[in-house]
Amino acid sequence: MSCNLSSMKKPDWVLLLVFCFSLLFFNSLEGQRREPLDIRMDFESYDPPSTLVVPENPKYHAKFPFIDMHSHHWRWADADLSNLAYEMDTLNMKIIVNLSGRNTEVLTNMVDNIKKQGYEKRMVVFSNIDIRSILDDDWAENTVKQLEYEVQKGSRGLKIYKSQGMFHTDSAGNRVPINHPKLDAVWEKCGELGIPVFIHAADPKQFWMPLDSTNERWLELKLRPGRKRAADDPAPWETIIGEAHDIFRRHPNTTFVNAHFGWYANDLDHLGKLLDEIPNMYVETGAIIAELGRQPRRARQFFEKYQDRIVFGKDAYHPEEYATYFRVLETADEYFPYYKRYHAFWRMYGLDLPDEILKKVYYKNALKIIPRLDASMFPE
Ligand SMILES: [Zn+2]
Repeated sequence: MSCNLSSMKKPDWVLLLVFCFSLLFFNSLEGQRREPLDIRMDFESYDPPSTLVVPENPKYHAKFPFIDMHSHHWRWADADLSNLAYEMDTLNMKIIVNLSGRNTEVLTNMVDNIKKQGYEKRMVVFSNIDIRSILDDDWAENTVKQLEYEVQKGSRGLKIYKSQGMFHTDSAGNRVPINHPKLDAVWEKCGELGIPVFIHAADPKQFWMPLDSTNERWLELKLRPGRKRAADDPAPWETIIGEAHDIFRRHPNTTFVNAHFGWYANDLDHLGKLLDEIPNMYVETGAIIAELGRQPRRARQFFEKYQDRIVFGKDAYHPEEYATYFRVLETADEYFPYYKRYHAFWRMYGLDLPDEILKKVYYKNALKIIPRLDASMFPE
């Protein structure tokens, strides 16, 4: 728009000038407001409560009775187990698997204590083995004998710790890779005895990556600096993970449970390929529910396809944390909080799994692979 001043009367253009100046003045005020405020907020403290109003279906009791296949309890040899049994009932946990049998003496004491208190149907124990003495001449023979004896005493499986595939060294000071040939006799024996091998290999891959603004586990590594690994400390992540895959492939008659979704919960395409290639491998949900809860559609497809290969486990036993697992698996809730910000600075979405899949994940698959559990405690 152009205005022809000469054709206007004086009061008109005075008015116009006043109008233009006031426009300029208010524009400049507006300009000042667009400058960012000079305040700072750090990543750790910025965690505003959500204002989103959507249906909420918190779950403190699982929809079906379940088996927690991944738990650690150090004092079962002499502890009063009644409080644990009470907590299990409030969660609808029918069976808990303590992977930390430690050694023959502790394991048999645990089994005896469980029996004495009448919980032999509810609480089971897995064996552990020592691999630091692997270079001893009679190591394989003795370890196999230990397993046979412990299974006879009540052990239901073998647990391999991440420390064993990462930090345990032989008498010559070398790291013992978990696919060491001397261990072959052990994997074969587990197959023969009909017990599963529950194996935790490595840690989240981010622990091996640079600790900077591109690392999704930055906060965890800041709070737990001992978890940080250099790129080849004690070996590259892919090497340690690959050593576990190698034993799964070479022992097809043994059932392996790859803990924590084999640390591929953030790449379900890849995990699916591994499950396709390795029919004797199962995966377990411990400590990766936050990965599933950020990809509810993809994760649900994965559960639909691999519903016969997934078992429920939690790892650290904190009763109040199970609610998040139930809610992610069972509901269609949106954008609800996870309980540990250093695992997930994002929020959760439910997978809304159908009952038949929930039953398999909660107990049917575990009943298939752990020997001598009482299936009559669970629905059809
Ligand atoms: Zn564990």
